[in-house]
Amino acid sequence: MTSLPNLKIDPQRLWDTLMETAKIGGTPKGGIKRLTLSEEDRRVRDWFKAQCEALGCDVTVDEVGNMFARRAGRNNDLAPICMGSHLDTQPTGGKFDGVLGVLGGLEVLRTMHATGYVANAPIELINWTNEEGSRFAPAMLASGVFAGVFTPEYAFDRKDRDGTSYGDALDAIGYRGAEKAGGHRLGAMFELHIEQGPILEDERKMIGVVTGVQGMRWYEVTVSGQDAHTGATPMYLRKNALLGAARMIDAIDAIALEHAPNAVGTVGLIENKPNSRNVIPGEVFFTVDLRHPDEQVLDVMENKLRAKLKDVMGLLKLAYDEKQIWRSPAVEFAPELIACVRHGAEKSGYAMREMVSGAGHDAAYIARVAPTTMIFVPCAGGVSHNEAESTTPEECAAGAQVLLEAVLEYDRRLEA
Ligand SMILES: [Zn+2]
Repeated sequence: MTSLPNLKIDPQRLWDTLMETAKIGGTPKGGIKRLTLSEEDRRVRDWFKAQCEALGCDVTVDEVGNMFARRAGRNNDLAPICMGSHLDTQPTGGKFDGVLGVLGGLEVLRTMHATGYVANAPIELINWTNEEGSRFAPAMLASGVFAGVFTPEYAFDRKDRDGTSYGDALDAIGYRGAEKAGGHRLGAMFELHIEQGPILEDERKMIGVVTGVQGMRWYEVTVSGQDAHTGATPMYLRKNALLGAARMIDAIDAIALEHAPNAVGTVGLIENKPNSRNVIPGEVFFTVDLRHPDEQVLDVMENKLRAKLKDVMGLLKLAYDEKQIWRSPAVEFAPELIACVRHGAEKSGYAMREMVSGAGHDAAYIARVAPTTMIFVPCAGGVSHNEAESTTPEECAAGAQVLLEAVLEYDRRLEA
C-alpha cells in the first residue's frame, strides 16, 4: 500500500470561482437565477468546459446534456471515480446548492493538476442536467435517465411553461451530446452538497457523512360514518367519521415517535364532510406521510398504521378505505465510499456526524447504478432554495478538501 501525498485545495481559489460563476445569472439580491438549458446555463456550461479543458481534461456530453470532464489516470482501463452535482438553480436560487458540488470538484481537479498528481483511476467531474426541475419537471431528470428511471424520450418531451421542450432547449444551447445516457462508465460517485437543513449548524459540525436518503410513503384514507343531527343522536348510536380521523392523527404521531429519532409521520391534509356545526361528520378524507431511512422500519410503520385503522374504525363502527398512493424507496449509500468520506474528514480534522438526507439529489438516482455517497457542509439557518442561502468560505473549503481526500482514498484502495 502506498501512502498519499498531502494535497491541499486552495480555499481562496475555490471561493473566487464560486463568486465568479455566481455572476452568470446573478440576481440583485445576491442569488442566482440559472434555469436549466437557458442562455445562462449555456454560458456557465461553456465556462465549465473551458476551465476543465485548461486542466487537460476531455469533456464529453451525453444525449440529455450531462457533462463529463475526465482527467486521465495511470490505469485508464479502470472505471472513473466521479465527483459531481448540478450548475442549474431555482428561479430565486442561492450560490451554493449544487454549484458547490461541481466547483468543489473543479477545485479538486485544479489541485491535482497544479501538483502534477496522477491518480490510479481516471477522475471525472460531472455536471448533471436539470437537477432542480423548476423549468422542466420532474427534478433530477437527467441523472434519472442515466440511472434508467426515465427514458431519454420522456426527458426530451418535458415542456416548460412556454411550451418549449427539453429536447429543443438542449439543441438551442448546443448541449445535446452523442453519447447514450447511462452508456458512460461510472466506477463511483461522490456528491458534495450543502445540507439544506439545520442539523450541522445546530450541532457545530463541519462535515455531514451522508449514509443515505430517507424513504417516503404517502397514503390516502377515506373514513365513512353517517351524517346525523348533533342534538337528536345519542353518543352510543353515532358513527362519527371525524372522531375516527382524530384518533388516527394521534396514532400516526405515536407510531413515528415509537421509531424515534429518525421516523417522521404526518397528517397534513384533512377534509371533513359536511363540515357543519350541527351535523355529526359522515365522511372524512385525510393524507398520511411516513418517512424513515430504513425500508424495513417503514414496513413496520405501515403495518402499525393499517392495524390501528382496523382497530379504531372497528370500535367506532366506521367503514374506511386506505391506499398507498406514492412511495420513494430509501437509498443506502455505499459503505466503502462512506468510509472514504469519514477517513477524509478525520484526516482533515473536521468535526463530523453521520446523517441521512431529507431531500432528493442526483446521488439518490446514481446510487441505483454505481457505488455513491454524499458529503454535506452546513448552510446558515438551514435555508436553501433561496437567494439568501449562505455557506462560509471555510465551510466550502472544508467540503472540497474532504471531497479530495475521499476520492484519493478510494483511488488508493483500488490499487491496494
Ligand atoms: Zn442541489
